Amino acid sequence: MAIDDEIHFVAGTPIGPAGSWDYSAVTAMSLRSVPEIFLGDQQSILRGDQYRLWLRWFFEGLVSPLAIARNAALERLDVYAVVLKRIELLYPMVDSPRRRDLTEKITDHIFAEVERIRLSVARDFADKATKLALLAERTPPRCYICGFAFSKGAQDAFLRVKGREAVRLPKLVDVFRPRLLDRDISIEIEHVVPVAAGGHGLDNLRLACGWCNKHKSSKVSLYEASHVPPKIPGFHVGAHQIHELPHPFWTIRILALRGQCRHSAGCDRTAKTAELFISLLDWQGSPNPMNLTVFCQEHDPIAADRFHAASKVAELWGERR
Ligand SMILES: [Zn+2]
Ligand SMILES: [Zn+2]
Repeated sequence: MAIDDEIHFVAGTPIGPAGSWDYSAVTAMSLRSVPEIFLGDQQSILRGDQYRLWLRWFFEGLVSPLAIARNAALERLDVYAVVLKRIELLYPMVDSPRRRDLTEKITDHIFAEVERIRLSVARDFADKATKLALLAERTPPRCYICGFAFSKGAQDAFLRVKGREAVRLPKLVDVFRPRLLDRDISIEIEHVVPVAAGGHGLDNLRLACGWCNKHKSSKVSLYEASHVPPKIPGFHVGAHQIHELPHPFWTIRILALRGQCRHSAGCDRTAKTAELFISLLDWQGSPNPMNLTVFCQEHDPIAADRFHAASKVAELWGERR
């Protein structure tokens, strides 16, 4: 029976502190495969992100992108030279052209990260024509991750319109997406493919809300984030009591990769046509990546309950306003 594997896996896999400090227990666990059914709807993201984190640690273990980024004198060739030394040590028997090929490909990844860090210092780099073209792509213009529609005020600020009115922060805020600061509702530009990795042109640029963009930051994997403990114990979202908050990175990663309402009867609303919201599949459980899903406003089971006064949401997250 299919469930026998699951029983065996659960019984023999300690997740508490005892097993986690025992090397042989950890090794035994690493040799088994996790029952597919446990991984649920986000299975491919969960698996893919594990590999991404391993690769990231491997690359960063060769050369620290932060160290390179901070020294303006260092260039791609410097990264290449360091990586090549390590590859030669790891593959002493392999011929030089193939070692150089692998080194090139690893260097591309590391230097793209270096460029990203260097660019993140200067976020607002596009000229006015580019900004206008990006705003004109859809009406209203929306965050490409969450579908949030940008206000007129945010558009004026983005275009640096003279004599514009101050951007007004919303009074009601989604408890799972605390947009509390001017930046959170502002418009930012993102490179889909880093410049260093060959990303150029209008097709390579997307508009993101400041909230999504700041939490996307430099993380590449769900495993780089964890729950956030709410600062108000026993907070209610409708009938549900909230004991943990989903990490903003989990929220935007699942929104960005799913990009569409997950209503069981099917729904074709995407971030291009509607704002999308993060919700829990099972409200008895923790809001971790396996238990998060995406809805449009119409299909959102907590549509009437997720918006709370900004001051309350700020308190819940322990954020200043
Ligand atoms: Zn957004
Ligand atoms: Zn829907």
